[in-house]
Amino acid sequence: MKELLDKIVSDGTVLQEDVLKVDSFLTHQIDPKLMSLIGKNFADKYRDKKITKVVTIESSGIAPAVFIGLELDVPVIFARKQKSLTMSTELLTASVHSFTKKQTNEISISTKFLTSEDHVLVVDDFLANGQAALGLVELCSQAGASVEAINIVIEKSFQNGRSLLEEKGYKVDSLARIESLKDNKVHFIK
Ligand code: 5GP
Repeated sequence: MKELLDKIVSDGTVLQEDVLKVDSFLTHQIDPKLMSLIGKNFADKYRDKKITKVVTIESSGIAPAVFIGLELDVPVIFARKQKSLTMSTELLTASVHSFTKKQTNEISISTKFLTSEDHVLVVDDFLANGQAALGLVELCSQAGASVEAINIVIEKSFQNGRSLLEEKGYKVDSLARIESLKDNKVHFIK
């Protein structure tokens, strides 16, 4: 998606050879117009797939996921990283090791929001080693829900997330695919 690639080049900062900072439009401050385009772009590919839910993880997956849900007119669920007192006791849970925080979180979704009737699009802001996406598909599989595809805004293709997910039979669909972050520059897969 050209608008996204342009934004990454103009506003993204390479922090290390494997970390890209995009806090001015995706992970802290959010650019709603860009999120709306992202929502349309993904939704257009899945309009005939009878999607019933969009599933993401807090917090940076929420913005793109909401715009996809809006386009497809389906609810959006975000897995929580911390249990809240108000959450029902019946939870689907999985462990996820965070690439950026270097810690393991138990993520959860209430059983009342995801069932075996659901056909899901999984969404996240970044794909690195695939642990967040794997946790989300694990929650879907615990609910007996089927997963149509894993939609990623920014894939760092030099890390092993895509191959891990594809080996498990999931379709990975990314809007920006980064080949490397060498020399403090973003190099996209052509
Ligand atoms: P994975 O679970 O695929 O290893 O990493 C994906 C998760 O880690 C995403 O949910 C995202 O929050 C975070 N992440 C991974 N790589 C980056 C990065 O380069 N920049 C930012 N801002 N977040 C990242």
